[in-house]
Amino acid sequence: MRTFCPYCALQCGMRLERDAGGPYRAVGDATFDVNAGDLCMKGFSSAETLVHPERLLSPLVRRNGVLEEATWEEALDAAAAGFARTRRERGADAVAAFGSGALTNEKAYSLGKFARLALGTAHFDYNGRFCMSSAAAAANRAFGIDRGLPFPIAWLADADVILLAGGNPLDTMPPLGRYLEAQRAHGESIVVDPRATAFAKGATWHLQAAPGSDASLAYALLHVAIAERLIDEHFVAARTSGFADVRRIAEREDPERAERKTGVAAETIRAAARALAGAKRAIVLTARGVEQHRNGTDAASAYINLALALGLPGRDGSGYGTLTGQGNGLGGREQGQKSDQLPGYSRVEDPEAIARIAAVWNCAPERVSRRGKTATTILHELGSAIAGLFVIGSNPIVSGPHASAIREKIATLDHLVVCDFFLSETARYAHVVLPTLQWAEESGTMTNLEGRVLLRERVADAPDGPRGDLAILRELATRLGEPHVVASDEPEAVFEEIRRATRGARADYSGITYARLRSGERLHWPVPDESHAGTPALFADRFAFPDGRARFIAVAPETDVEAHDAAYPFTLTTGRVREHYLSGTQTRRVARLIAAVPDPIVELHPSLAARFGIADGDLVRITSRRGSVDLAARLSSDIRAETLFASFHWGGTQTLNDLTDTAVDPISAMPGFKSAAVRIAKVSTTV
Ligand code: SF4
Repeated sequence: MRTFCPYCALQCGMRLERDAGGPYRAVGDATFDVNAGDLCMKGFSSAETLVHPERLLSPLVRRNGVLEEATWEEALDAAAAGFARTRRERGADAVAAFGSGALTNEKAYSLGKFARLALGTAHFDYNGRFCMSSAAAAANRAFGIDRGLPFPIAWLADADVILLAGGNPLDTMPPLGRYLEAQRAHGESIVVDPRATAFAKGATWHLQAAPGSDASLAYALLHVAIAERLIDEHFVAARTSGFADVRRIAEREDPERAERKTGVAAETIRAAARALAGAKRAIVLTARGVEQHRNGTDAASAYINLALALGLPGRDGSGYGTLTGQGNGLGGREQGQKSDQLPGYSRVEDPEAIARIAAVWNCAPERVSRRGKTATTILHELGSAIAGLFVIGSNPIVSGPHASAIREKIATLDHLVVCDFFLSETARYAHVVLPTLQWAEESGTMTNLEGRVLLRERVADAPDGPRGDLAILRELATRLGEPHVVASDEPEAVFEEIRRATRGARADYSGITYARLRSGERLHWPVPDESHAGTPALFADRFAFPDGRARFIAVAPETDVEAHDAAYPFTLTTGRVREHYLSGTQTRRVARLIAAVPDPIVELHPSLAARFGIADGDLVRITSRRGSVDLAARLSSDIRAETLFASFHWGGTQTLNDLTDTAVDPISAMPGFKSAAVRIAKVSTTV
């Protein structure tokens, strides 16, 4: 039974097997080319959540302050009645919806439609806002479109040089290593990371830049290319606009100046720049370490400027891309579960898109044309402007910035409804909890990190009790007086509507059918008709602006992180560990994963530890302007001396996001997760 991993955007192919009557087990699908049978330990253990004893099997309704089991009729009635009451008393825009990059395209599409038409609110967003919104914003303004990797993933293996900034793929998506190791067997690599990860140690050049200093570093690399006449002048003249302003900034940002900002030796910058600029096939990649900053969009733009000046986007075997995080982070926004977008990756301000969607949805244009609040603003306004919240597949009180404030606010909501298959930290605050099916128990499409649409078919028996998200949305919409909002409980019927809703749009899915996906066709969007073979290389001929040219964006080469002072002199940067996934709702319940990494740790340099008398294993208090968290210390000379690293997969007293910065990028509204100003103190010696 073929399926795909429920976790990250690599979307590894797997098979679900079991002996008669026994538990399911996941094994790699050697016939699926992306991972060729490889899985990481999250994928191998993913079937454990299907039969987990903590699985929610019955709806819950809060009565006298306590969540109690209820029938589906009672729970759906209570969920809908609460939203109707909030709308009546406070107006429809006092209700918000919060979705997930784990939802299938069919669910994401239906959630956006449900929010606009059934809840009647302009305020809905998804946790993908916290993942790669800065990369998306940067790609959109440079290329007119964003698709994670706008080229097939196989190109990674053939590149002569790869520059990866702010990513740790050997931990976050280990099967991607087969491409990266193949590339390193014949080519060179440049890794930008404040930590000497295993991936960075294997690189030809490790640029151990300070968190948040990427814009300066990217400009310095460009400076060298300009100074040594390594720019692709023909490409710049023929396929881009706006280089003059960027050139002027780059000419001032020489490697010595960048060394003072980034901590990377000027000669290392020069050597890396020469290798990148001299390569026939070169790829520039960014990931969350670049993007999750107050200026993440500008930092990603600085790397795109570098790639454009070298003529990489659109060149066969070369390009710029970003490594998407969540399983359907890409499809989630393409199908419009964000209030600034409409299905087909259309802009909500686009009159053609408004008319197209209104026609498919059979509604007045003004019901689909409003831009609402971002995820960060929705969470910030809980309990004030936002009185009712619908959460589906997300756990924002662990994953949101300054999570302790979100916890306080969410407790004051008039009405909170959560759809999930475990009682997540967020679900514990709900007035109504609706138990859902899991990935293997229903069908739907996912769009992987290279824009390839995959059909994940139902392969496991569902337990009695939970329902599919589409059925839940349809039931709620019916109770809210909009029975036709969700086309069907059947994903294929919803996908047929997506095909119509995206016809002619930037992310055109209209030529994709379940039958084509079942036959094994590799379909990267756009696929404008059923005879079209898909678009693996998105920029081969033109960029997605009317004149076909890409845009250089003249961003500032500055570092923009939370201010340090005597009270908060160090930088906390956050990230993932190999064994856990995002807020940990699933992976913290998988026995072998929690046994491997039961608790978060803070990684710090021995020289910093020595100043505070901290030894390996000691309990350390990390304090930011927003709170404190105590974690065990791991001393490592692999990290910069003034930087601390910890992961964010835990809740309760281990919620690392209690510390993170709420300031957001002004363009993408991405919070500055990667650079909180902190201090440290030893709490106790552990044995
Ligand atoms: Fe799943 Fe991602 Fe691991 Fe592949 S790399 S098995 S998709 S978590």
